[in-house]
Amino acid sequence: MVLGVDVGGTKIAVAAVTGMAAVHGVEHPTVIDSTEALLAGLEAAVREVIEDTGQPEAIGVGVPSQVEYATGRVETSVNIPLEGVPLREELGRRFGVPVFVDNDANCAALAEAHILGENDLVMLTLGTGVGGGVVTRGLTFRGANGLGAELGHFTLNPDGPPCPGNCPNRGCLEAYCSGQALERDATELAQDKPGSRLSESLGPDGKVNGHDLVEAAEQGDPDATLVFDNFARMLGVAIAGYVNVFEPDRLAIGGGVSRASHLFLERAEREAATRALPALWRRVTIALAQGGADAGVIGAGVLAAQEIKGITTPLRDTAIGHSMTTEGSE
Ligand SMILES: [Zn+2]
Repeated sequence: MVLGVDVGGTKIAVAAVTGMAAVHGVEHPTVIDSTEALLAGLEAAVREVIEDTGQPEAIGVGVPSQVEYATGRVETSVNIPLEGVPLREELGRRFGVPVFVDNDANCAALAEAHILGENDLVMLTLGTGVGGGVVTRGLTFRGANGLGAELGHFTLNPDGPPCPGNCPNRGCLEAYCSGQALERDATELAQDKPGSRLSESLGPDGKVNGHDLVEAAEQGDPDATLVFDNFARMLGVAIAGYVNVFEPDRLAIGGGVSRASHLFLERAEREAATRALPALWRRVTIALAQGGADAGVIGAGVLAAQEIKGITTPLRDTAIGHSMTTEGSE
């Protein structure tokens, strides 16, 4: 039995993961006042589940941060105070079992692949930013140090808008297909067109929020529709690129913005169909993520289960898996 932990900006979810099911789940609000408070909250949530399930064999943790996978050290973390924290070591010490820490988008992609039984999958998580995950032959692709695959920061337009993420680039996928990008585009249009429907949605913060934008688009407002058309076009360009590079069986679209997929996904698929290499396009399925609310927890659990079974890709990971197993049993 393994535990999966999904650390989000607002809540920490923990559950025991057996096969594809998350059981004995708990959710606690994420305390972001300080690193110590965050870790204490995380520990309390995990201990609550352990009281029901007993000591797990391992714990997988997904965090909204860049993680050096082999060491489990958090490299950068914008929304929660984990930057520089050796999370794998710290949690391993607290719980006395092997701990594996990965980026949350990687965990979501792993969950999606395992839930659907897909071995080769690319997932884009469209939220405030854009997360990406690549599963190849059933395993997470992470690059040399575990910091990949940041699919959201692939350049679509070198002269595009500044990336809203923790990123020096312009015109990344995240600069076009994130919640922040939608709000930026809607706000700019609203400011340019006084008296328009969107301009009436400008809030006290001077911005049009995503909810109002979606509502306007659903009611056929031409400005809101234009924002989603541009979004869909750029998403389609990115989808075609990722299909060409990775040749997945499935490219899944998840994240909070995907709840508005009726406003962009068909259009994005049409765009991608005109751009992707035909032999690859014929063989790929583009679909909304099926993992649901538990995907983050399940992905973290699958990760831990793979690691303790020694099913890992690079040599580096295997070596670490061993040393952690030893450490945990000391
Ligand atoms: Zn970027």
